[in-house]
Amino acid sequence: MLELQGIHKKYQMGDTLISALKGVSLTLEDGDFVAIMGPSGSGKSTLMHVMGLLDVPDEGSYRLNGREVAHLTEDELAVFRREVISFIFQQFNLLPRMSALENVSLPLLYSEQKMDLERAKVLLERVGLGTRLEHRPNEMSGGQQQRVAIARALINRPLMIFADEPTGNLDSTSEKEIMTALSELNASGITIVIVTHEEDIGRQAKRLIRMRDGVIQSDERLQPLKVSVLAAPDGTPLSEASAWVTGLRNIGQHFYQGIKTLAANKVRTGLSMLGILIGVAAVVAMLALGRGAQKAIEDQLSSLGSNLLILRPGALRTSGGAKGEAGAGTRLTIEDASSLQDQIPSVKATAPTVNGRAQVTFLNKNWNTSVNGVVPDWARIHDMAPPVGRFFTLEENQKRARVAVIGATLVRELFGESRSPIGEYLKINRVSFQVIGILPEKGASAFGDRDDTVVVPLNTAMHRLLGKDYVDTIEVEVSDPSQTESVQDLTLDAMYSRHKVPLSQRQDAFQIRNMADIQAALANSTKVMTLLLSAIAAISLLVGGIGIMNIMLVSVTERTREIGLRKAVGARRSDILSQFLVESVVVSLVGGSLGVVLAWLITVVLSTIVGWATSITLSSVLLAFFFSGSIGVIFGIYPARKASLLAPIDALRYE
Ligand code: ADP
Ligand code: MG
Repeated sequence: MLELQGIHKKYQMGDTLISALKGVSLTLEDGDFVAIMGPSGSGKSTLMHVMGLLDVPDEGSYRLNGREVAHLTEDELAVFRREVISFIFQQFNLLPRMSALENVSLPLLYSEQKMDLERAKVLLERVGLGTRLEHRPNEMSGGQQQRVAIARALINRPLMIFADEPTGNLDSTSEKEIMTALSELNASGITIVIVTHEEDIGRQAKRLIRMRDGVIQSDERLQPLKVSVLAAPDGTPLSEASAWVTGLRNIGQHFYQGIKTLAANKVRTGLSMLGILIGVAAVVAMLALGRGAQKAIEDQLSSLGSNLLILRPGALRTSGGAKGEAGAGTRLTIEDASSLQDQIPSVKATAPTVNGRAQVTFLNKNWNTSVNGVVPDWARIHDMAPPVGRFFTLEENQKRARVAVIGATLVRELFGESRSPIGEYLKINRVSFQVIGILPEKGASAFGDRDDTVVVPLNTAMHRLLGKDYVDTIEVEVSDPSQTESVQDLTLDAMYSRHKVPLSQRQDAFQIRNMADIQAALANSTKVMTLLLSAIAAISLLVGGIGIMNIMLVSVTERTREIGLRKAVGARRSDILSQFLVESVVVSLVGGSLGVVLAWLITVVLSTIVGWATSITLSSVLLAFFFSGSIGVIFGIYPARKASLLAPIDALRYE
């Protein structure tokens, strides 16, 4: 039962205000078959849209089954649209990418009923399209499309059908079929309201209303009205719980439809994924690199306990080490090292070292590498005992023996796979050395190849190779880690007195660091680097998100009519919202997964070809997924909300 009282509807067209309805009052009984006729522009469609809840009047009262429509909430309106009212449009309004079967079952998506494809099939058979189930709209004639639309109108067992010039685009045979179908539906108890231009169609109805210039001109009963046989629900909305159940069930459908839509626009979907893909790949790869660098540092330093102090000459010139030599810095000597060991009880060992670079030759092969002159204790302190061969002895150091322990890189470059280097003679800066051992393999780090080195006795290095009479660093091993700080002070005091450093210059005479400090400093700097790189990567994620929003906005605009139709068949705001959200989440999650794969490839390339240490952690992958998912939601919300707020008729009219 429909009761309209003084309905007005105006449209703003530029500067002018067009009155489409100028006070229409009308009561429609349940079970009636009403035809509305009138010249073009007389307000027939506007009246139908108002009655069918697709549009709202500016003035007047409209009561549907006893309820004032103006007081209904958006969700209550949706319930009426899907359970009470069905629309048949002149333009059919089928969704082009869906088959006949999917088009017919579309309204079920928004109702509480289960996705019942059997019923959709039965209905399509009833309108004579049993053999066209899988056809898309563009593979069917106009008459067939309109019959699909009728089947769609029937799927939710409506009480009323509004048909706005349903045969306007059809030939006369199709017209007859459609009219027969509508008459049969009316006979089964469904209220039919039809707008038509054809006088003989109007005459088939039970009641004929003629309109002109937005008012009802005449209203005549052609056939008596039989009492309605269908019970009229009052449009009570779904209870909160069942709405949730429907919502959850529909998420699956939304995913299915979303993926289908995305697959239909492959290039566009791919491009919008690209932003997220690059962003996620950048974040994961950066974190992996940072983590790898940190691990490399830890590995490198872990063998050196926190009980190691490293003493270097400072920047300041003093008279101590090199008397009278203007411009020379403080210089450390082997005697400094032994006196520290003798003077300070908590010192377990000292290891003076010199470093330099040298050309190493074996037969016709050349290799430039770093040379370290060390004492035998160095191997123990640095956990560098050779797995193959041996380290040199104290005696060899004293005798300045020409023996060398070489790193794995040198073995590879000079000797290759086939030849054992032990016992062979090679030349370091043209001085002949015998190889007595191979250092344990340490691998590459962010600071370079740790196996690209040769270790020789300190005295040999100083006097036969590098020509130095001083040492570059003295490593001090403290016997008890808790004594590290006090040993640090004692070491400095001893050095000040040995080198006669005046009080005023003590500040800069020596540098002493303990490993804990160095570890902390290095860890901190890699952390800062990682953070910086990740920030840049995060910005690219943001840009990717904006890309998705952009594409989704285009998609909303492009599918405005589709949104209008979905609303006309009973979709609630939340349905439209979740449909578009699901799409953007799918785009960003798929983009995110591909990004993780890309990041993995990047790290593989970096670690095998460039030799950087990398490490992808599970947490960074989860983080990436979390981020890309959230980006899908955050940047999808605006377009999805925009879509959900569209008024059904505005969306349907959109060109
Ligand atoms: P009918 O269906 O009887 O041909 P309509 O209800 O579609 O007539 O239109 C009635 C009047 O309202 C017409 O003058 C038409 O131009 C105007 N009108 C309809 N819809 C709109 C709209 N969306 N914007 C502006 N004017 C409109
Ligand atoms: Mg019209």
